[in-house]
Amino acid sequence: MPLLDAKLTFIGACQQVTGSCHLLEFAGLRILLDCGMPQGGDQLRNLADFKFCFNPGSIDVVILSHVHIDHSGLLPLLVRQGFDGVIYCTEQTAELLPVLLKDSIGLYLADLERDNRHRPSAKAILPVMDLTDVERTSLYVQALTYDSTIVLTEGLSFSLQDAGHILGSAIIRMELQRQEQRSVLVFSGDLGNPQSVLMNQAVLPIDADIIVMEGTYGDRDHKTAADTIAEFSQILADAAKGGGNVYIPAFALGRSQEVIYFLAMLYFQGLLPQRMIFLDSPMAIDVVSIYSHFFATLNQRDLAKVSKVVSADFERLLPILRLTRTSEQSIAINRIADGAVVIAGSGMCNGGRILHHFRHCLANDHHHVVFVGFQAQGTLGRRLIDGQNPVRIHGDEIHVKAQLHTLGGFSAHAGQTDLVRWAQAAKPGCRYFLVHGEMRALEVLQAKLQHHGEAVAIPYPQEVLHW
Ligand SMILES: [Zn+2]
Repeated sequence: MPLLDAKLTFIGACQQVTGSCHLLEFAGLRILLDCGMPQGGDQLRNLADFKFCFNPGSIDVVILSHVHIDHSGLLPLLVRQGFDGVIYCTEQTAELLPVLLKDSIGLYLADLERDNRHRPSAKAILPVMDLTDVERTSLYVQALTYDSTIVLTEGLSFSLQDAGHILGSAIIRMELQRQEQRSVLVFSGDLGNPQSVLMNQAVLPIDADIIVMEGTYGDRDHKTAADTIAEFSQILADAAKGGGNVYIPAFALGRSQEVIYFLAMLYFQGLLPQRMIFLDSPMAIDVVSIYSHFFATLNQRDLAKVSKVVSADFERLLPILRLTRTSEQSIAINRIADGAVVIAGSGMCNGGRILHHFRHCLANDHHHVVFVGFQAQGTLGRRLIDGQNPVRIHGDEIHVKAQLHTLGGFSAHAGQTDLVRWAQAAKPGCRYFLVHGEMRALEVLQAKLQHHGEAVAIPYPQEVLHW
């Protein structure tokens, strides 16, 4: 009897970093690994024209590596177009998913409405998905703990292993059994930066036969965490001496909590001169409460460095942290002239409360702005970093006098050395397929791994692997 065919179609995040999605077909099941949103370019037009290259109703199972929108953002569209199976993810991801999807779809709908206002009504673009689709998506979610094994059908099982990337991030390990032959397929999702705080180390793919892995930073390493924290500490000291505030645009999930952790570390070392820390983002506050819920799963060694006091609440990690949920509380921050750190979204300054703070702080040379995340082309954050002056915010021209800093050491992704180390934990003879990276980064990583004698391919979109 011939062995069952196993077929993997590489669909998204092929030779680029967004739209993670791959289709595994085996033993009569069609399983989607991630269902991410392609990002960049004219997002409204791209979504209006978007078509899945498979029938969403034919998919039995989705396994989600983590909640980032480039891995999860098209789930509501999949559901809207007929998906009626199970979406498996970790329990952390299951709690984060509605928060992130609501934010993403909310921004999409607002952008679309703004865009349609300038269009004759006959040509208005209709939304391809909306908030009811987000609610329906949650109904299909089945939350799993790390490392529990789920049998999908005879001969096919999987487990989710910690990827150390963001809260709830997982490596998907699939086991395929055909007669006496067993093969293990590992999909890395996004792999964490071993230096980043609060997350655990990624589980190694020891018994993998096939690895589909990300290569976002396949061509470089990150700065060390010690350098980053020293630089951060210096900026805080300078701001205190100069009599101004520090404003930090940060992503609601991950980076905001990481910044709070570093501030807590400095606070307990007696090295934090500021008296008030504000987390001024309703979404980041929601995420903080999810961090509290999963406090026991965070990296306990990192937590022990901050405080000897046992606390099960993430928000209590930093005693001077204030959570400002309402817009009145947010506006009140503007009355504080110095001694405060304000963490607010959006991370790239293309919306959110940070813009209101910028209207007050950018024109004042006492204040400091610290960029702790990637700033994409076309965003206000990028324009500021590139030295544009003046800048436009909400229609007003603002002359930038505040002191701007970029802290490059924060990254939730493994650097090149970490990627190579993770990949090489696999047994000899393992085959590698590199995805989720710009072509240059993937080629450099390919050469690195091939140098060690590994078989490494960079699949193109729609490429099919049979084994
Ligand atoms: Zn990610």
